[in-house]
Amino acid sequence: MGTTPPEQPREATPEEAAKAAAELTLSDITQFFDERKVSPVCPICSSRQWHLLTPAGEGTKTTRLKKLTPQGPVDAEYPAIPTFLVICTNCNFLREHAAMALGKWKFERGLK
Ligand SMILES: [Zn+2]
Repeated sequence: MGTTPPEQPREATPEEAAKAAAELTLSDITQFFDERKVSPVCPICSSRQWHLLTPAGEGTKTTRLKKLTPQGPVDAEYPAIPTFLVICTNCNFLREHAAMALGKWKFERGLK
């Protein structure tokens, strides 16, 4: 009889990181920012209240950078960077961060 040793952290595969990135919550993001000492203060209005944007109809909380053309943004036809957007609930300033690193971080901490 003995205790089971704690599971060793395992590095996430790109697929695992992408899946975790698609399931990010505002709580995950807040925890990640706290751990990495990322300022929660809006650079425009100094509010600390953010809302995680979920693109309508995509079934995921991640967005992708879009190619800008003179006619406006178009869906990327090339490999794009998954990102997430948070918006200041006071002044509507948008913050965009790459999602994969946060998905990798989430997976490796076993967060659900
Ligand atoms: Zn603001």
